[in-house]
Amino acid sequence: RVLDEKGQIKGYRINGQKQFITNGGVADLYTILADTPEGPSFFIIEKGTKGLQPGKHEDKHGIRASDTAPVTLEDVYVPAENLVGGVEGIGLKQANRVFGYTRLMVATFGLAAGMSSLEKVIAYAKERVQFGTTLAEKQGYTHKLLVPNAVRIEAARAYTEEVAERIDSGEEDLQVEGSIAKYFATEVGDATANDGIQALGGYGYIREYEVEKIKRDAKIATIFEGTSEIQQSIISIFRLRETIRTKGGFYSGMSNELSSLPEQSGGPMVARAIWLLNELLLVARKLKVTKSQ
Ligand SMILES: Cc1cc2nc3c(=O)[nH]c(=O)nc-3n(C[C@H](O)[C@H](O)[C@H](O)COP(=O)(O)OP(=O)(O)OC[C@H]3O[C@@H](n4cnc5c(N)ncnc54)[C@H](O)[C@@H]3O)c2cc1C
Repeated sequence: RVLDEKGQIKGYRINGQKQFITNGGVADLYTILADTPEGPSFFIIEKGTKGLQPGKHEDKHGIRASDTAPVTLEDVYVPAENLVGGVEGIGLKQANRVFGYTRLMVATFGLAAGMSSLEKVIAYAKERVQFGTTLAEKQGYTHKLLVPNAVRIEAARAYTEEVAERIDSGEEDLQVEGSIAKYFATEVGDATANDGIQALGGYGYIREYEVEKIKRDAKIATIFEGTSEIQQSIISIFRLRETIRTKGGFYSGMSNELSSLPEQSGGPMVARAIWLLNELLLVARKLKVTKSQ
């Protein structure tokens, strides 16, 4: 804090360094989360502010057209009016309010990468003739490299769209749903893009055919905005907490809803799996298995 002659806060002096900032070398405005006496707080800092120093542009595996650079802050003075929300210590709360949305955004990056790779694979499989028939006619090929990915992509897309609709309709606190969508869709997108290289054989390995670029671009989605492992931790902590808080009601409600659907929809079968998951969580909690994690 920097105080004026009456002892009022007139600004802040910020020090620190952050690796890997998207647009870190080219941004006009920086949103910085910094520790203040009352806790983490967001500040807006303009490009060119004394002490704000972007580092070198990173040479990356994928998304090579996107700028990534470290940013260093050395005694950067920020006036009090640049404190976002005007109150110290609400930074993490503010971040949490957008995570449902931003995680979903990255979920769609991963999903779109998988979809575009799959489209190229389908086109190739319909054209490429080996041993007298097209690849699209060989089950050893389609059932390994196309069908599982197509199914997982549709499931990830359905879930991502459902969460998007809930956010658009004004529902709040969808951070866990955002984590589930990000974890699922980005892992599916990355795996599909990886299979895309295999599915084009030698051509898949050649830059001109693009699937290798899609794979390199897809990978970042499982890393930034919280890695897959961190999403798993969030999902596990919050779903376990919700299961305990509702004494199993969270998942049993979901299970009951699905069990009333017609058998051929698959709903009752999923309902039984959810029931089992619920029992497992409650037993694990009772035996304190979750404590040693
Ligand atoms: C291209 C790019 C752009 C980025 N853009 C931004 C940006 O604009 N703003 C920003 O703030 N950040 C940005 N990042 C940073 C990014 O979010 C982090 O790199 C990412 O969250 C991982 O953190 P880390 O690099 O410190 O890895 P580490 O934390 O060192 O993780 C290494 C490995 O350990 C695992 N791990 C870590 N902790 C745990 C745990 N508790 N349990 C299990 N496994 C764990 C991770 O999942 C990972 O697999 C960007 C990164 C890249 C590469």
